[in-house]
Amino acid sequence: MSAESYYSRIIDGKFLAQQIEDEVRSGVKELKNSHGVIPGLATILVGGDPASKMYVHLKHKACERVGIRAEDYLLPAEASQEDLFSLIDSLNRDINVHAILLQLPLPKHISPQAAMEAITSTKDADGFHPYNMGKLMIGNEGLVPCTPHGVIRVLEEYNVSVKGKNVVIIGHSNVVGKPMAAMFLNRNATVSVCHVFTDNLKKYTLGADILVVAAGVKYLIKADMVKEGVVIFDVGITKEENGVYGDVDFENVIKKASLLTPVPGGVGPITIAMLMKHVLMCAGK
Ligand code: NAD
Repeated sequence: MSAESYYSRIIDGKFLAQQIEDEVRSGVKELKNSHGVIPGLATILVGGDPASKMYVHLKHKACERVGIRAEDYLLPAEASQEDLFSLIDSLNRDINVHAILLQLPLPKHISPQAAMEAITSTKDADGFHPYNMGKLMIGNEGLVPCTPHGVIRVLEEYNVSVKGKNVVIIGHSNVVGKPMAAMFLNRNATVSVCHVFTDNLKKYTLGADILVVAAGVKYLIKADMVKEGVVIFDVGITKEENGVYGDVDFENVIKKASLLTPVPGGVGPITIAMLMKHVLMCAGK
């Protein structure tokens, strides 16, 4: 494969994220000029998990770049569910906080579902509240989860039509797989959702026009599991001492894919940029 063909197949997540951030920056300025409002995001981290700390840090850096005011709340790992709910309650009532992000995972003694439900649905920047999830299910998309929203944005950017396409999603989490499936169904794709109990994964992946992989299993998808011309979103992240890896055997699969997101530099930065977009939406733009 020529170098030109190789690079033309790679979806440049960092570039697209910058483009989305530019849009948000303009929106933030407009909101400030027209209504004197500066969008505010409150992030909550319970416990000191290093990966979660890093994700929150990246989100704060993005806020700085686009002009969103960010507040950081750190609760100790042993904080009770009541402590967390009382913080969420005060942020729900704070008129300068337009969006709340509760970094997952939470310590085992706190129910993530109950915590998500405690956040006012209009401040739910991550789109995890049952009300927003329900709206997504009935095709009335508002605040939706950032990663699937980013995937849809990329498809629009690259003019990849979805209607009638065979879409295969690997992973059925509430964060990626399930909302992703709903978003593709809302756009009239034919959707298969696979997971760890799926028998003969290859049977499904071989039929995919668009493949979204969110399993967190390094190199789960090999070249012999996909057809020529497939568009692939590699959401998975596996951190090892010598680097970060996706769920797709990138160097071999790229020979068959027409478009493919790299790890790192693919879905990750786009997800954070979509979060910025959601904060702006919460603030009223
Ligand atoms: P999860 O970790 O909650 O669940 C994993 C899913 O993958 C489950 O549905 C499971 O059944 C399925 N799975 C696991 N092993 C499998 C296998 N061998 N074959 C088929 N399916 C298998 O899911 P999640 O929270 O959506 O996260 C998935 C991955 O995506 C993780 O690596 C996570 O770090 C990453 N992630 C990345 C971003 C980003 O912005 N880049 C955002 C969210 C999640």
